[in-house]
Amino acid sequence: MHELALARGVVDMIEAEAVRQNFSSVRKIVLEIGALSCVDEHALRFGMDASARNTLAADAAVEIVTAPGRARCFECDDDVTITTRGDGCPACGSHKLLVTGGEDMTLKALEVD
Ligand SMILES: [Zn+2]
Repeated sequence: MHELALARGVVDMIEAEAVRQNFSSVRKIVLEIGALSCVDEHALRFGMDASARNTLAADAAVEIVTAPGRARCFECDDDVTITTRGDGCPACGSHKLLVTGGEDMTLKALEVD
């Protein structure tokens, strides 16, 4: 359900862009899923198929890329990459981490006609 709502949001965004930039069909949609966002790629693909039906994005290829989880370690005072929420710092093992990236899904790129 979560992914379907996200997919609808993406299609809404594309339709708004189409009005603003005056394009009539979409060739390719690139979505980026943060490693910590809890978005399931397969569910998102299914959601995109369902949401894009009968829209200008109906024939668009959907490419999904993953963005790493990013966090700030208070012990190292450095930015580190983590793969799941609750991971320790890969450098020092500390759990005093502030997640700074990889929590969202974003529309990365759009190829249009
Ligand atoms: Zn650390």
